[in-house]
Amino acid sequence: VPVRSRPTDTTDMVCGYCSTGCSLKVHLKDGEAVNLSPNPDYPVNLGMACPKGWEALTVLDSPDRATTPLRKNASGRLEPVDWDVAASTFVDRFRAIQQQHGPDSVAFLSTGQMPTEEMAFLGAFAKFGMGLLHGDGNTRQCMATSVVAYKQAFGFDAPPYTYQDFEDSDTIVLIGSNLCLAHPIMWERVMRNPNDPRIVVVDPRMTETAMNATQHLAIAPKSDQSLLYGVARILIEKGWIDRDFIDAHTNDFDAFAEFVQPFTLDRVTQETGLAADAIEEFARTIHKGRRVSFWWTMGVNQSYQGVRTAQAIINLALMTGNIGCPGTGANSITGQCNAMGSRLFSNTTNLLGGHDFANAEHRQKIAGILGIPETVIPTENSWAYNEIMEGILRGRICGLWVICTNPAHSWINQNLARDILDRLDFLVVQDMYHSTETAREADLVLPAAAWGEKEGTFINSERRIGVLKKVHRAPGQALSDFNIFRLLASYWGCENMFRNWTSPEAVFQILKQCSAGQPCDITGIHDYRMIDERGGIQWPYSSQVPDDRQQRVLFEDGKFYHPDQRAKFLFEEPRPLSEAPGREFDFILLTGRGSASQWHTQTRTKNSAVLRKLYPEHPFVEVNPADARRLGIRPNDWITVRSQRGQMRAMAFLTPAVSPGQVFIPMHYEETNRLTDAVFDPYSKQPSYKACAVQLVTATG
Ligand code: SF4
Repeated sequence: VPVRSRPTDTTDMVCGYCSTGCSLKVHLKDGEAVNLSPNPDYPVNLGMACPKGWEALTVLDSPDRATTPLRKNASGRLEPVDWDVAASTFVDRFRAIQQQHGPDSVAFLSTGQMPTEEMAFLGAFAKFGMGLLHGDGNTRQCMATSVVAYKQAFGFDAPPYTYQDFEDSDTIVLIGSNLCLAHPIMWERVMRNPNDPRIVVVDPRMTETAMNATQHLAIAPKSDQSLLYGVARILIEKGWIDRDFIDAHTNDFDAFAEFVQPFTLDRVTQETGLAADAIEEFARTIHKGRRVSFWWTMGVNQSYQGVRTAQAIINLALMTGNIGCPGTGANSITGQCNAMGSRLFSNTTNLLGGHDFANAEHRQKIAGILGIPETVIPTENSWAYNEIMEGILRGRICGLWVICTNPAHSWINQNLARDILDRLDFLVVQDMYHSTETAREADLVLPAAAWGEKEGTFINSERRIGVLKKVHRAPGQALSDFNIFRLLASYWGCENMFRNWTSPEAVFQILKQCSAGQPCDITGIHDYRMIDERGGIQWPYSSQVPDDRQQRVLFEDGKFYHPDQRAKFLFEEPRPLSEAPGREFDFILLTGRGSASQWHTQTRTKNSAVLRKLYPEHPFVEVNPADARRLGIRPNDWITVRSQRGQMRAMAFLTPAVSPGQVFIPMHYEETNRLTDAVFDPYSKQPSYKACAVQLVTATG
């Protein structure tokens, strides 16, 4: 390191990509980041980081950073304007739409990437200040299923685990989770387990995680529910259940036991494509384990029957008493760095601190804490993301404010999604880059500071709150999202409502009050400094319990959050694939994360030369060699993948990781969602990205 840039100071902060929530030591010179290294003392990552974390600073200096507000001129080109013009345009255009079509004709779409305090400010300004009713986050695309599954089963959205469970389990069951790529540091925690654990992976693909498993169950896509019900039936039949726990702490087990009776081995082998002895071995593994933990991610969540599949996993944990003790649990792993903050405090579809807009007592409590009239709080919950998109299609929503997300790339059935965005009268995009697929379509672009250029807190998958710090100057006129919300509130004329919202830490103090008495109570946390000094703090952390009583694993006392303190068994007849392969579209397309070095729509990660080198820049499709031989596809051939909705070109990568009749394309490429089918889980409204029918077209036809 040249002397002039040799660091003179160091500060710790949490990473801004995935939900693992690693801590990074950022090395500073004159208060500005010079480089970083993983924090060896943080209880999450224990000195490790994945390539994205190592490269977190690089992408801040990219040439496509948004440095000034941009407004579309008469000829349809975005041109620079100052903040006064940008804020006035925001207010004038959205007000005009609201006057013509009603207050709820403007909506917002936000993110799991912003600090909790910014999310809370966004929701409060949009809903209480601007009078919007509809707003949702891109967390709908990854976590909504788990939220609903937990709420219905436990009475609150409460992932019960801590990462230490990866090391304490003797049996680790991963369902629809390629932990090795999607959450590499969590996978490292599995590798550190001293108990030589049995690892069972349920996934249609031979993923990197499956390659390291004791048992890989390569089920037919979306047949998880049948498998899990079949395993439950075996456990009941053999008496491999914890009757004491079931009787003391749960409801509806007998109805569940009756429901699973038709899931015989014959039926389950037929529906899953698995051998009978493999299913029995899975059941026996669960029985033999003393500390069994069940984990799931997007393979379960992104499904048209995701909620009931997640609950089928929860049922297995409940019926075997594998919950509330170290090394156990029915554990949903979150996606984005602050998805958990979004779930509890975003003020989009629920009210600050897990309250309910439709509950008069909750509205009264929040109005009292915020010092606002109760009448400005909507009395109903927002539409979900898909309903907002449908609202645009039907002409009910005419103005949209997109904050830190990229629906023109990431939303399902992309051709339709872009058509929907085109119908808007006014589209505002607030982002750190002006080059995203969505920003390019905007009428107004608001330049935002990025991770590392602002303050706040994130909540990771294990409910740990970590602190984010400002270590880099935002480029040009870019402002933190927090300051953009303050500015817009003052132009809107509702700044009085937010007179106490002076800084992220001031909002944190407000959120603490909102959380009081809730399962996510954080009133015992004094300030950011305390979080920093403790290496992050997991919720709940109530002021009512002594300092050293941090509750790392939930339900140790067997008490759940329903009024009777019992968990519920929930179940439903599985449905067939929403789009089964047929004569013309004869393959099933699987999508998912393709590399530990890439993140979502690549808006950030494509700006690191190191990360680009670790991942093919052109789209590729995994094809089974037997299918390739049949169709005359050779390695690296460019082929067309076509669904009923669109098509894309991709380079063929021949691998037995995908079964015959299935192909896999990573989600990171702009074209992937041209193929996907817009179907949704009925309870969580989460899109089903994982399985649709496609055909492969070679150069020779
Ligand atoms: Fe950041 Fe996630 Fe990588 Fe950790 S695992 S360094 S939180 S991206």
